[in-house]
Amino acid sequence: MRYEEFYRRSIEQPEAFWAEQAQAIHWRMPPQRILDYSEPPFRKWFAGGETNLCHNAVDRHLEARGDQLALVAISTETGVNREISYRELHREVNAFAAVLKSLGVGRGDRVVVYMPNMAEAVFAMLACARIGAVHSVVFGGFAAHNLALRIDDARPKLLICADAGMRGGKVIPYKPLVDAACAEARFPPPHVLVVDRGLDPGHARVDGRDLDYAALRARHEGAQVEVEWLESNEPSYLLYTSGTTGKPKGVQRDVGGYAVALALSMWSIYDVRAGQVMFSTSDVGWAVGHSYNVYGPLIAGATSVLYEGLPVHPDPGVWWRICERYGVRTMFSSPTAVRVLKKQDPAWLKKYDLSALRWLFLAGEPLDEPTAHWITEGLGKTIVDNYWQTETGWPVLSLMPGLDLKPVKFGSPGLPTPGYKLRVIDDASGADVAPGEKGVLVIEPPLPPGCLSTVWNDDARFLSSYFRHFKELLYSTLDWAIRDEDGYTFILGRTDDVINVAGHRLGTREIEEACASHPSVAEAAVIGVRDELKGQVPVVFATLKPEGRGRTPAQAAADVRDCVAERLGAVARPARVYLVNALPKTRSGKLLRRSLQALAEQRDPGDLSTLDDPNALEEVRRALERGA
Ligand code: ATP
Ligand code: MG
Repeated sequence: MRYEEFYRRSIEQPEAFWAEQAQAIHWRMPPQRILDYSEPPFRKWFAGGETNLCHNAVDRHLEARGDQLALVAISTETGVNREISYRELHREVNAFAAVLKSLGVGRGDRVVVYMPNMAEAVFAMLACARIGAVHSVVFGGFAAHNLALRIDDARPKLLICADAGMRGGKVIPYKPLVDAACAEARFPPPHVLVVDRGLDPGHARVDGRDLDYAALRARHEGAQVEVEWLESNEPSYLLYTSGTTGKPKGVQRDVGGYAVALALSMWSIYDVRAGQVMFSTSDVGWAVGHSYNVYGPLIAGATSVLYEGLPVHPDPGVWWRICERYGVRTMFSSPTAVRVLKKQDPAWLKKYDLSALRWLFLAGEPLDEPTAHWITEGLGKTIVDNYWQTETGWPVLSLMPGLDLKPVKFGSPGLPTPGYKLRVIDDASGADVAPGEKGVLVIEPPLPPGCLSTVWNDDARFLSSYFRHFKELLYSTLDWAIRDEDGYTFILGRTDDVINVAGHRLGTREIEEACASHPSVAEAAVIGVRDELKGQVPVVFATLKPEGRGRTPAQAAADVRDCVAERLGAVARPARVYLVNALPKTRSGKLLRRSLQALAEQRDPGDLSTLDDPNALEEVRRALERGA
């Protein structure tokens, strides 16, 4: 099938197109209407249809592939590797669902899941889906305050956690954070269910509130819990955005539209079908983890590989060893992870038999050209950049190798995926810009299946965050983009990441890319800092590759400045270049430019609750004090 026809049909005859795609999943009751768009921009896909995510992800495969691996959960932290067949997954999920029901959790109740990347997190999510409870997975390791905010927003009937996680060989207790969050929250859950991994033996327990999962599971082992059939537009889960630009938004997902969009994306974008293996390195706490570690691969009847650990531990070959061992066909990771590998010897990329591996998909932030070249050449595989948001739940832009692979253009996540009617418009006038010109990327509503239904409990915020930026009713991605003559879209960064140097508007992304083109630079963050003369000037924070560490800092900084000026002209020449060992990022690996900028302008760095490594920010502080 050709991409062009497929995409065109999704836009020109959306109801017929999605009615066909809906055949890929099981409906207990078929939809009465494919699209109900009576209250724009709210829309209901497959209205009146009844289905269930857990049934589609687990039960439906029992007959044909009960003994096939459904989930492989590998932890290089605890050394525990679990290989779980569909039949075993069914048992585990039923037992977990029975435990949930015994605690009085039912349809529509929220359940907060705060766990590391381990098999029980997947069981917990599927068990919620089975009984119609709404899970809200909070990335494990978020601080207590973050967790408390999400608890108060979701008001859960239950919180499920592990005693501890591990990172780089160090135990990170979770339970004390849960206790602190429950103490801070106004609406703490009546029960906390602890999956005890034995990592933090002395952890405190609150009588009457805290429950031990293993004990309850033993009581419900072998239970069969009936699937709760949900109307297609009931909520399946809540998931907060990364908080890169401010207070995270509680994205609310539906059931039927999400299942259908995932089923479509699995074969057409990720080129994974039943019986094949997909390895996503994401945490289940992110959108990628929800869609492509849990629901997508399982709905497709594929095998999903889940990984707890660092990409370089015990050595930088660990991911490729996993690919060899399980015959991974499609791998999914992030540019941040690749940049971590880029600081290592590229010989690791060639050490293992990767003959089964076809594609490496990367998403989450801009994939700069030098990094794309490095990994493409190092692996000898096709790298597919794909662009999406927590809100959309699945890619907005990608190539679709499951249909036919269009040429890769480095620096671009490619072409619109089915159902996404995209435009690039002028931020002031709202008019479409010409090919090659910069504008805001917007989606014409109705949003396709899979995208958020609303912001949890806050329709007003749904409207004001996404739909009130232009005269026309359009969903703003809040990202800058350029579309070229061939329809390829290039993402230039967020609409609040623009530097205005003496009237010249420069995207942080272009300057970062120019910095990264210097052979010594591993990663760069660029911000605009107030300047009396020019309004703003670009300032660079950069980390170096091993081969760059021989230069003196002054030489390296001068090199980077020259390199940018050469590629983008003198206006873009960075005023200062600070060399650091790590850049401040969100827990999901996105650069926190707003905090860098605030520090550089001697302002308060703002909400740091989603910051990954506080040391990185400290280092930036010290670098600023030392001067460039
Ligand atoms: P918040 O919305 O709370 O500020 P966030 O936008 O970082 O947080 P996510 O939904 O995790 O939360 O990230 C989506 C954003 O990540 C996109 O809007 C875009 O800016 C960026 N992004 C994702 N994938 C790509 C990609 N392939 N290329 C460029 N940018 C990307
Ligand atoms: Mg966002």
